[in-house]
Amino acid sequence: MSTGGAGKKYVIALDQGTTSSRAVLVDRSGRMVDVVQRPFQQIFPQPGWVEHNPQEILFSQLGCLTELVARHGLSAGDIDSVGIDNQRETTVVWDPATGQPVCNAIVWQCRRTAQMVDELCADPQVAGMIRAKTGLLPDAYYSASKIRWILENVPGARERAEGGELLFGTVDTWLVWVLTGGLVHATDPTNASRTMLYDIHRGCWDEGLLSLFGVPASMMPEVRPSSGPFGETSYPGVPAGIPICGVAGDQQAALFGQCCFEAGQAKNTYGTGCFMLLHTGREAKASTHNLITTVAASAPGAEGLEYALEGSVFVAGALIQWLRDELGIIGSAAETEALAASIPDTGGVYIVPAFTGLGAPWWRPDARGAIYGLTRGAGRAQLARAALEALAYQVSDLAKAMAEDAGGPLGVLNVDGGASANNFLMQFQADLLGCELRRPANTETTSLGAAYLAGLATGFWDGIDELRGLRADDDVFRRSMEPARAEALLAGWHDAVRRTIS
Ligand code: ADP
Repeated sequence: MSTGGAGKKYVIALDQGTTSSRAVLVDRSGRMVDVVQRPFQQIFPQPGWVEHNPQEILFSQLGCLTELVARHGLSAGDIDSVGIDNQRETTVVWDPATGQPVCNAIVWQCRRTAQMVDELCADPQVAGMIRAKTGLLPDAYYSASKIRWILENVPGARERAEGGELLFGTVDTWLVWVLTGGLVHATDPTNASRTMLYDIHRGCWDEGLLSLFGVPASMMPEVRPSSGPFGETSYPGVPAGIPICGVAGDQQAALFGQCCFEAGQAKNTYGTGCFMLLHTGREAKASTHNLITTVAASAPGAEGLEYALEGSVFVAGALIQWLRDELGIIGSAAETEALAASIPDTGGVYIVPAFTGLGAPWWRPDARGAIYGLTRGAGRAQLARAALEALAYQVSDLAKAMAEDAGGPLGVLNVDGGASANNFLMQFQADLLGCELRRPANTETTSLGAAYLAGLATGFWDGIDELRGLRADDDVFRRSMEPARAEALLAGWHDAVRRTIS
């Protein structure tokens, strides 16, 4: 029996994404009862720069929350707790005396600090030190250089930061600070692990990295467990006194929402690109394939930190969009499923979607896309099928690299994201990987993960066994293709990749 949360009906997940904020009402059975979503403005001040207005993030997120509460007539007595998952790395610096950010948030996609990172990390010893401590490959993507940019470019910011007058936070930290009425300045280890300032082995901010990037330690939030108390809501218009007790970066929240709690369990999100995470338990595995080592969200009571390997495919669902919007050979993404299934194979057509280079395990940013094996008989169906197969081949290469780094094969691959709805793609993926693919009935795993982290902390859910029990109705895909045929298809793909990068 649950010890906490008596009489409470719901957990609310605040899903703060890159293009929209959402508030999601989750009941005890793990069902998503309702969702409110609000987009917010993307700001592009210069080529390669991406910003968000932190106040707009806040108001879109609070707007979703208050609309959800009003729609269901909820009071604090109905809501057990709030969990937050968020776009990672995006950087906010604000003055706690006024509550005002000193400038717009610098978004993870923003490349303005690329040269700064190249210069600071040019020495291989420095790059190696960063990799060893943080598990990351030095890049402008992470928060460290974005904070430095703000301190160097906003008039007076460095002096104020050094005088202890400014705070830094990723978006979770900004939301927690505002929602708790400015009482709590904290983040969780999954978000901390994306700043490039956090030692993932010792579990603390690293003095050497703070000084390399010129970030005063007084700006940094306290790091608290992902599932545990972050304070209570205290903000006008929001029901007061609701515990905020789950926080995780979006990909780690999805891993948790997929019930990947143990080493060997993995999830892949098939969205515009793909994000794959493989739980590696208490061991932080270093990659020999340029994958990232990151912190996984832990259930309450975990001893020390838990880790995951992370890798991405740059172009996945975006290839399907390209067929629709640029080639115009399909009317909708979903059409590809029937088209692909209408033929027994692609007739030797392969698409290598290296629109923005090739990622793990190839690492060729200079590569560009290509289509091979065209014959007079190749048409819409062959191209649609080759596109879906290209998604699966890329994921298969990534999974293989991950399994080698982790020192053991994937047991099960849990899937989510828009393109995971495609049954042809899922079956072909299972055929290539030879492991079981599980697609949960609720593929909104990110919000679910944030809700689970919060509800575990309060006792709304008993423990991870109860959560596992909530996902009874998965679709399961198993290999039905002869292994020799899968190998031959993969060999054809690798041949196409080699021709693309040679
Ligand atoms: P993101 O969160 O990255 O924006 P989503 O998870 O919403 O992406 O997934 C949308 C992507 O999935 C789009 O690129 C779209 O082309 C692709 N997609 C959606 N449905 C299907 C489908 N049935 N088959 C293949 N691709 C699909």
